[in-house]
Amino acid sequence: MKRAKTKIFHDFIAERGLKSTRQRDIILEAFLVSDRHLSIEELYLHLRAAHPTIGYVTVYRTLKLFAESGIAREFQFGDGQTRYEHVAEGEHHDHLVCVRCGAISEFSNAAMEAIQDEIAAAQGFIIQHHKMELYGLCSACQR
Ligand SMILES: [Zn+2]
Ligand SMILES: [Zn+2]
Repeated sequence: MKRAKTKIFHDFIAERGLKSTRQRDIILEAFLVSDRHLSIEELYLHLRAAHPTIGYVTVYRTLKLFAESGIAREFQFGDGQTRYEHVAEGEHHDHLVCVRCGAISEFSNAAMEAIQDEIAAAQGFIIQHHKMELYGLCSACQR
């Protein structure tokens, strides 16, 4: 899976006529083994210890490229941070976001997906993608 995403990204870079750089490869590696829903800042701080020459702007731009190449999805969960998660081809899930502690959990529900398709079909609409985000308090924050 990781290898497939690396290849997708390298093909994308080549198609764009961009040079592949060592820094980008380091960022890619760190991103693909990271937890999900990482903010730019979190990934930058994580990299900084071992790779002090990689700047914030490079991380920022590289994550944008990951999203454009299709190996990452970009999210804003209302805390002012842009977050990225790596995604597998055809994989889909939605998110529960805790407004107090910022915890993000994932869910997928076939019935809900089917209802969305029905709603779209009723209007002659073809869904290409969607994001469902439910905001509230996680179980820990309710105590
Ligand atoms: Zn919480
Ligand atoms: Zn997710």
